[in-house]
Amino acid sequence: MQPDTNYHPSGTLFVLSGPSGVGKNTVLRRAAERVRNLQISVSATTRKPRRGERHGVSYIYVSPETFAEMRDAGDFLEYAEVHDASYGTPAAPVREWLDAGQDVVLEIDVQGAMQVREHYPDLILVFLAPPSWEELATRLRRRDTETEEKIARRLANARQEMARIGEYHYLIINDQLADAVERFCAIVTAERCRPARQNLRGLLGEDRDG
Ligand code: 5GP
Repeated sequence: MQPDTNYHPSGTLFVLSGPSGVGKNTVLRRAAERVRNLQISVSATTRKPRRGERHGVSYIYVSPETFAEMRDAGDFLEYAEVHDASYGTPAAPVREWLDAGQDVVLEIDVQGAMQVREHYPDLILVFLAPPSWEELATRLRRRDTETEEKIARRLANARQEMARIGEYHYLIINDQLADAVERFCAIVTAERCRPARQNLRGLLGEDRDG
């Protein structure tokens, strides 16, 4: 068989957005256990770690100065200010994974998602929403790591983000965690089935006679 010179394996880039406290991280971690070749990008942030979070796993925790240096050096694929802290996606690992044909998920806010879309028009945008406002507020309070003032800011921000759901390709309501995980896995699988994302050379044959 001739080597396929036109085919460049490249992974698919996904974004998962949704209000703070909706369960994005839990859904992603569980999905990554079930779907092969799915990498989760770890963002850099200037916010302080919450109880139970780990450096290099939840986030890369940096000082505002280091964040500014990384930003000025062009290290970020996108960055944004969210709830008084800076968040950015380190570009290098994402590019390496995609070049190696691995799919990558960015867990970022709406502003960041739209920045990434400028460079990756094929980006698949997935929004995770709570079943109701009451449930979102309850989940944020249950987390018990924020003051009431911070919770109010997160809820106000959530309203703005939810207003932009129409710009996303998929919406998952996180009512039951297992269902949300299954839906996210189904979206990844469906996107992998698109002809444009598969190498059709072997299937169509090199020596078709027209
Ligand atoms: P939290 O502080 O609750 O972990 O995250 C707050 C918000 O920042 C969430 O909406 C989360 O998706 C968003 N976020 C986390 N990392 C990034 C990032 O690298 N870029 C952008 N634009 N948003 C991020």
